[in-house]
Amino acid sequence: MHEMSIAEGVIQLLEEQAQAQHFSRVKTLWLEVGPLASVDVQALSFCFEAVSRHTLAEAATLNIIEVPGLAWCLGCEGQVPIRQRFDACPDCGSYQLQVIQGDELRVKELEVD
Ligand SMILES: [Zn+2]
Repeated sequence: MHEMSIAEGVIQLLEEQAQAQHFSRVKTLWLEVGPLASVDVQALSFCFEAVSRHTLAEAATLNIIEVPGLAWCLGCEGQVPIRQRFDACPDCGSYQLQVIQGDELRVKELEVD
């Protein structure tokens, strides 16, 4: 399950941040996840809870913000919503789409002690 390694990566990032910014406990964190990141949000919450045990994020509340997928369609010359990387344009059916947003998987904000 790759959500487990993502959760471990997040903890590692928090530990690095804690050293750099001198905090010892994470109270809340907001994680942005796009539909193109291929992450199961429920599985990620579950894994985060498991791997955060005995770490600085043990008592942290994880908020996952699901960012909508967006692409630029060359056919319509406009922005269109997408759910997957190789979706066709919902308006004109073209596959000439450039992803603008949706592959996010990053820590957006932290509340720390
Ligand atoms: Zn289009």
